[in-house]
Amino acid sequence: MRRHRNIKIVATLGPASSDYDTIRALFEAGADVFRLNMSHGSHEDHRARYDTIRKIEADLGRPIAVLADLQGPKLRVGTFAEGPQDLADGAKFRFDLDPAPGDATRVQLPHPEIFAALEAGSSLLVNDGKIRLQVDECGADFADCTVTVGGTISDRKGVNVPDVVLPLAALSDKDRGDLEFACELGADWLALSFVQRPEDVLEARELAKGRAAILSKIEKPAAVRAFPEILAVSDGIMVARGDLGVELPVQSVPPIQKRLVRQSRAAAKPVIVATQMLESMIESPMPTRAEVSDVANAIYEGADAVMLSAESAAGQFPVDAVRTMDSVARSVEIDPTYREVIEASRKADRKTVADGIVAAAREIAETTDISAICAHTQSGTTVSLVARERPRTPIIAMSPIERVLRRLCLTWGTHCVATVPLSRFREAVISAARAARDFGFATEDQQIVITAGVPFNIAGTTNILRVASCDERLINRSEQE
Ligand code: PGA
Ligand code: MN
Repeated sequence: MRRHRNIKIVATLGPASSDYDTIRALFEAGADVFRLNMSHGSHEDHRARYDTIRKIEADLGRPIAVLADLQGPKLRVGTFAEGPQDLADGAKFRFDLDPAPGDATRVQLPHPEIFAALEAGSSLLVNDGKIRLQVDECGADFADCTVTVGGTISDRKGVNVPDVVLPLAALSDKDRGDLEFACELGADWLALSFVQRPEDVLEARELAKGRAAILSKIEKPAAVRAFPEILAVSDGIMVARGDLGVELPVQSVPPIQKRLVRQSRAAAKPVIVATQMLESMIESPMPTRAEVSDVANAIYEGADAVMLSAESAAGQFPVDAVRTMDSVARSVEIDPTYREVIEASRKADRKTVADGIVAAAREIAETTDISAICAHTQSGTTVSLVARERPRTPIIAMSPIERVLRRLCLTWGTHCVATVPLSRFREAVISAARAARDFGFATEDQQIVITAGVPFNIAGTTNILRVASCDERLINRSEQE
């Protein structure tokens, strides 16, 4: 089986998508990556979903990526003695460290580090930014605020503090436990929430010890400011528009999205555009025009992947939501304007032999009638470089390493195929030609471009570019080695 589109689809699993049949239907409808959201559900829930994904992978013979999303340092208020409280515009309200249940004048905010970082004038946002407060005065254990936008506050609502870089550990104790659990489970990607600095990413990388690739969720103003440094130490990026639109004015999200997508693509690192993409499909079988347009725009921008959150995790129409993304993608990707936009925004900073080889592979493929670019890879890097070129010709990623293929499921345009470790160049050609034929990319009388590295089975050696026939008799005649 093969996909007829380049952009990848990430589907979050949850109560609406936990059984074998639903997850398989999501995959068959087009989900390439499944996200396990550690903010919800128990380890046992996640383990059961993980095992089901791997079962589907084995049953269908296609690699699937699993992305475990860590909750991160999410701040929450304490509880209220008498249920939800209405805060009026202009009212005074205090946050403090006292665990006693709150009322209409105060509540606990059990994070002493926050009080140390706040200043008069800082904003505090509660409940996804629905309530806004400004700090008048603060000390080591309290912040007296004025409500600037009123609303209802209730037990354990989330708090955002956009203006300050919080002296918070990037990973809470819960995150550390979840990280170890996800790595042991075999997750391919770890997503880090509320990253603020490159050091946060390095800390997670140290704990993951190479078992999973690290994806930074950009959802704090500090992360937007430090983006080039964060990108440099991350394997992938998520434009986490949900919290980003709370921490920053919502109108600043689209320009940031465009910038992050371009810079990630230039760095050949996969970038996901996430949150509220098909929000109305949580309850409706049909998306709104604006949602379709939003998904389409992320595709025109050249993102590697688009993501479903509650739509697939808790909505009534998870499979329809994936199907919608798939059909929007197919319709965009055949539009000549899409090609123009993608090619005009190609900005590869080519420095290495591999950069030159993949650029040449694309040139050759697009100059003549080549059916696929087959890239043999040990680490996945060469395939990411091919994908960065955003070629018109399909990309086949070939590797003997299962986890490399699974990780690449997040990368634009890649069709991942397992090979045996190569010992002869002839095998590189034959396995590529077979994959191209078996998955319907090429027929016997067609040609493919192959990239590989000699010596074989060592990362970072890409140094061969070959145009080959898909006809095995011709391959046997021409490849003596
Ligand atoms: P979340 O992250 O769904 O884990 O909050 C995505 C976002 O904030 O957009
Ligand atoms: Mn978020």
